[in-house]
Formats: sequence, C-alpha cells, structure tokens
Amino acid sequence: MNFYMPTRIIIENGCVQGCKDSIFEGGKKVLIVTGKSSAKKCGALDDACILLQNACCEYLIYDKIEQNPSIESCIEGGRLAKSFGADLIIGIGGGSPLDAAKAIAVLAANDGISEADFYSLCWKSAPLPVVAIGTTAGTGSEVTQVAVITNSKGLKKSIRDDSIYPVLALGDPKYTKSLSDSFTRSTAADALAHCIESYFNKTANDFSKVFALRGTRLIIDAFRLIESGKEPDADMRHELYLASIYGGLAISVTGTNFPHAMSYFLSENHGVAHGTACAFYLPEFIEHNLVYAKDESDAFFSALGITPDELCGLIKEVAPKVDVKLTDGQKSELSPRWQGNSCLKKCYGDISPEFLQQKINKLF
Ligand code: NAP
Ligand code: ZN
Repeated sequence: MNFYMPTRIIIENGCVQGCKDSIFEGGKKVLIVTGKSSAKKCGALDDACILLQNACCEYLIYDKIEQNPSIESCIEGGRLAKSFGADLIIGIGGGSPLDAAKAIAVLAANDGISEADFYSLCWKSAPLPVVAIGTTAGTGSEVTQVAVITNSKGLKKSIRDDSIYPVLALGDPKYTKSLSDSFTRSTAADALAHCIESYFNKTANDFSKVFALRGTRLIIDAFRLIESGKEPDADMRHELYLASIYGGLAISVTGTNFPHAMSYFLSENHGVAHGTACAFYLPEFIEHNLVYAKDESDAFFSALGITPDELCGLIKEVAPKVDVKLTDGQKSELSPRWQGNSCLKKCYGDISPEFLQQKINKLF
C-alpha cells in the first residue's frame, strides 16, 4: 500500500479569510491565477486579496485562464510570475485555473523550457509552491499531483508529478453557489467519474477505495435529491465539495480510467464541459466492470446499497446531456489517440484502442 498526500486540506465556511497558515507570512510575492470572471463573482478573489493584504504580501492577478487551459496562457503566466519575482502561486477557480496555477509554478521556475520538456517532466528547478482555492466541486485538483493542459496542437495532455501537489487547499463550499445549474451537475458528475474510475482500477488500494466509496456515497445522495427536484442548498454544496475532494484523493493514487481518456476529444473539439464528457461514458464503464471486475463490482454495489441500473439511471438523469454527432471520418481519427495511453493498462479487461473505437461507433 502506498499513499502520499503533502497537501494541507482545510474545508470550512470562511476558511480563506480566516486562514492562519504560515505560507502567507509577510515578504511573499504572490501571483494569483484565475479564470475570466468567476473568482471575482463568487467572492473567492476578494477573500484571497484581503488575506494577502493582512499578511503584508504583494500580489498580482493573472486572470486569463480559459476552460481546458492552454499551454500558451500558462507560458504567459509563467513569464509574468518570473518578472514579478513571485515566490508563491495561488490558483483560484475550478480545475482549469488550478491546473494552470500548477503549470505556471513549473514554468516560472523553468523559464524558457521547451513544450516537450514541460510535458516530459524534464524540469531543472523545482516548481514554486501552489495554494489551491477551489470554486467548483468537481475536479479535486486541489489535492492532486496532476495538471491537464491543452498543448499547442489543441490536445489535452496531463503532467503528473509529486512536486506539483498544492501545499495548501482551501475549500469554502459557498463559493460554488454561483455555479450555473449545468456546471453544478457537470462538475459533480466529474467527481463521481473520479470515484468510480478510481475504484475500478488495477492500481486501487484500500486507501483509494475508501475515498472512492465515500465520494460516490455523497454524490448518490445529492443526485437522488436533485433528481427529486431539490435545488442545491448550502448542505448539499458542502457534501458535493467534500465528494470532489474524496474523488481527488482517490485519483491521486490511481489516476483515471477509460471514460476520462475518451472524454478529451469532446472537450477539445466539441465544447463539451469536462464532467459532462466523462459522465457520458460512465454507464458503459460500469457495465464493462460488471463483466470484467465482478468481485470489485459486487463489493462496490453492496457497500453502496444501490444497483448498477439505478446508478446508471441517476447519472443519465442528472448529468447534462451530450449532443454531438460524429462523421465516420471523425470517428476513425480517434483511435490513434489512445495508442500507448497508460490509463488503459490499469482498466480491468483487455482495453485496446480498437475496443474504444468500437465503443465510439456504438455510442455516436
Ligand atoms: P473550469 O473549466 O475550471 O470552469 C468551468 C466554468 O465554470 C468556467 O466558465 C468558470 O468561469 C466557471 N466557474 C468556475 N467556478 C465558478 C463559480 N464558483 N461560479 C460561477 N462560475 C464558475 O471547470 P472544472 O470542471 O472545475 O475544471 C475542468 C478542468 O479540470 C479540465 O481542464 C479538466 O481536464 C481538469 N481536471 C483536472 C484534474 C486534476 O486532477 N488536476 C482532474 C479532473 C479534471 P471562469 O472561466 O470565469 O473561471
Ligand atoms: Zn475529471
């Protein structure tokens, strides 16, 4: 068994303004990394600025991070951090700004590095420390050693290294209140995908399975309420945020599985939100594991007291719909993408690019 978690995790109302962590002691120069508007809208940016002012830190805000963050924005952010002399990066947002903050932390410390060296982890200097302030309840990026950055060819590619774990994760679930209904559902579905993909993974261990089960439990409870017409309230947002962190902890051990691998082209080329794209494949993934991971499936469904049919039904009902049509040409371009994908080796059953191509032909 192996579990490493260097991130201090604080989840409570008011945790940003009230934070007493020594990382904010005076003399720091901080680059704050956000998306275009939500960090301001949800109140997290103002809270972080007050925290930094009280701690006598200087700060600069870089607010150009797009969804599925691009390497170009990260390079620009890295240069800004370097010229400002930043010694700490604070990411505020959903997975996109948080992942970008990790990449900027690498690029600021390794100015001029090539894109190839960035993705192959050939870094000469250690990344700057990162603080993650989450504003969605989905990716769990606050507690993972992963950043997913869109490369200059438009493809989503991950970097995974222990040095990019945030040193501190601050989660105030009230920030997620300003999320649209669609992003609330989509990001929750992403957290569920992390839990399920991590559970049905050959590298799962007792730690990751406990996190995955707990996160799944919380999301099932929330999805049942949403399905019955309940609007997310403060309690539900708290539970969803916790679930996203459990999902992040689970995938920090195992990584994700074929739903994530198959989701990327939907976000890259068809504008589908990340969680929506992953959730689309979850029913297939669950059915696959009923056959190829029977013991794990029995343990999973009996621990949760839900049937596979009910879980698949909840996902289909609550996750936003994918409405994408693919031509035969577009379908056949996908399979080379999955050659050598290390995620697929961790799936139960024999998962080849051809197998995934058949799934695509069936689903689209
Ligand atoms: P996101 O891309 O960060 O944000 C989606 C949208 O929601 C943006 O328009 C954003 O606005 C808005 N938003 C964020 N917080 C909000 C709030 N509190 N109120 C209102 N609007 C808000 O979404 P995400 O699903 O959290 O992140 C997806 C990314 O994370 C993908 O690139 C995915 O590949 C990656 N990911 C990373 C990991 C990991 O372990 N590192 C795991 C899974 C997924 P703004 O643009 O204004 O901020
Ligand atoms: Zn995800």
